[in-house]
Amino acid sequence: MPEQPQMQALAERLDAALRGHVVTGWQPLGFAGLKTVQPSPDAAVGHTVRRVGRRGKYLVLELDDGPRLLVHLSQAGRVDLETPPKTTRGGKGGVVRLRLDGPDGETAVLVREHGTERKAAWWVLADGDDGPLAKLGPEPDSDAFERLVLEGTDRRRVHTLLRDQATVAGIGRGYADDALWRARLSPYATLAGLDAEERRRLVDAVRAVLADGLERERTRTGGLSEPKLGGHFEVHGRPGQPCPRCGTPMRRVSYDAYEVTYCPPCQTDDKVLADRRLSRLVK
Ligand SMILES: [Zn+2]
Repeated sequence: MPEQPQMQALAERLDAALRGHVVTGWQPLGFAGLKTVQPSPDAAVGHTVRRVGRRGKYLVLELDDGPRLLVHLSQAGRVDLETPPKTTRGGKGGVVRLRLDGPDGETAVLVREHGTERKAAWWVLADGDDGPLAKLGPEPDSDAFERLVLEGTDRRRVHTLLRDQATVAGIGRGYADDALWRARLSPYATLAGLDAEERRRLVDAVRAVLADGLERERTRTGGLSEPKLGGHFEVHGRPGQPCPRCGTPMRRVSYDAYEVTYCPPCQTDDKVLADRRLSRLVK
């Protein structure tokens, strides 16, 4: 799933490519993708892109005197930057193609779904409407997030809390795994159970993995098209491979829809956590 670093770097590339361009039209490619009824996407046509930014995992296109457009890529949404625009349907997962005109000619942004389950989506927001952004917690680089980790009494697991977009915005399974590994904390650690030093390590680790992730993501060019985005993680999705810190083969804990990767010596005092998928196989 694209997380904060992927979306931030994508926003920067789109801003460089599209700022000052005028929206000339939109082509609906899927039925379920558009999450708003009013205003119509037609309200964006004729308006100039002032800025492409990011909030949480949302891409935010701001238009001069026009509506704001949001894009969320969910599990496996992808964005292609087309110069010149194509006229294909974007494959079976097409969501929308936005066409723009700039000094160097026409460009299009194609949003499409690479996966099969969770769908990429977009919103057209009138002035003053924050839509789904209103429910987001603070960004990881904010003082509010730092206070929440250093002083919070939340009894949930840190892994759960980091992935809860209403608590802190932009982190998913991948960077949650990497941050806990970087902070040398168990996947089962709860925020309320951490001492002051562990909390400080957690804040620093979250910010460090996101900063490193962004640096790697900034080496991409164009949209965000590749089917697999996971190659940039240090530990996430790499069970069985040697821990980058101590060389011990890393382990996983499997849930129905995902798995958590961790290093026993680095994170759990060498304890191997029960893995449901594994115990089912053993039975
Ligand atoms: Zn290790």
